Amino acid sequence: MSAEDNWSPRSQAARALGWIDQNTRAVTPPIHTASTFLRDPDNQYRSGYSYARDSNPTYDQAEALLCELEGGAGAMLFASGMAAAGAVFLNLRPGDHVLAPRVMYWGLRRWLAEFAVPWGLQVDFINMGDLTALAAAVRPGQTRLIWLETPANPLWGISDIAAIAELAHGAGAVLAVDSTVATPVLSQPLKLGADIVMHSATKYLNGHSDMVGGALITARKDEYWQGVAGNRHDGGAILGAFEAWLLLRGMRTLYPRVEAACRNALAVAEHFQGHAEVAQVLYPGLPDAPDHALAARQMRGGFGGMLSLRLKRGEGQAVAVAAKVELWSRATSLGGVESLIEHRASAEGPGTPVPADLLRLSCGIEAAEDLIADLESALRSG
Ligand SMILES: *Cc1c(COP(=O)(O)O)cnc(C)c1O
Repeated sequence: MSAEDNWSPRSQAARALGWIDQNTRAVTPPIHTASTFLRDPDNQYRSGYSYARDSNPTYDQAEALLCELEGGAGAMLFASGMAAAGAVFLNLRPGDHVLAPRVMYWGLRRWLAEFAVPWGLQVDFINMGDLTALAAAVRPGQTRLIWLETPANPLWGISDIAAIAELAHGAGAVLAVDSTVATPVLSQPLKLGADIVMHSATKYLNGHSDMVGGALITARKDEYWQGVAGNRHDGGAILGAFEAWLLLRGMRTLYPRVEAACRNALAVAEHFQGHAEVAQVLYPGLPDAPDHALAARQMRGGFGGMLSLRLKRGEGQAVAVAAKVELWSRATSLGGVESLIEHRASAEGPGTPVPADLLRLSCGIEAAEDLIADLESALRSG
């Protein structure tokens, strides 16, 4: 056992598993741009690398670190979070039944409804907070996959991973969890019984809004995982070498970034709860949030950097506030060091379950008092 095996996850992340380049003693890895690798004289590939769809040494360290942080047996990087999620669903067969949340990342919900269903999957969108309804919706022998997102965009409801894992496994289904918002700092779905964890690495894992990528981590290298790996290899939705390198660099500061975002989110939530212009603060870290007890049990070290505000004077006020803020950036996405604000209903368009008076806030790592003052002044003039 080497010294690194005893390091806490925080140290593992900061030191990227203690990896040193064996040739140069460099403390950070090179970016491998090679698309192809030399065969041995007898035509074997003993290096383990053959062709860079999807065999790339630049992935190895980031994938190994993700395995370590999530407590998984294997990890794979993808071209985007959507590509990672898509690989999990496309490992199913037409006719298979899937349960997905009613409130979830909009892009994936739309892909399921507009691509996966015409392709042949049977998808039911369920309120994942209602375990009785969920149990009734499971079709033993036919339900192959339950997909969760927790906390779920953009109302930040929490799903009970351990209880739903038991339900899924009782019916012979795989449980996959989109843990983009929780990050491995705050929750580790595999340890609660999930089979696969998905991340949009674009968000907290990279954390600097300068790359797009996705990741999957598995509890076991089983048949399902082999199928997903085949999808990446043959489907080719691979991450570029430079993006993989940026991701690893970003993950070195994952812990302090996520902790700062959590502190800011809690400060913003507490400040605006009961505010004259705010109808509701949606944040699982508030003691009177409906899912607070479950969140406190399932998450450690914080409740995430994402929250939403519903404004008393409705959609017009929400759009006006997003137009007037100066420190918050009016942009989509989340999980970067800079705070972002977005009127989600207009971003998602017709059919969205998101209330029109809602502003989604992604807290970065700026000073909480500046973030609060900027929102206060936008609310006063909005
Ligand atoms: C952004 C996001 C995705 C999609 O990831 P991309 O990297 O944009 O493809 C999926 N789930 C959640 C929760 C997200 O925030």
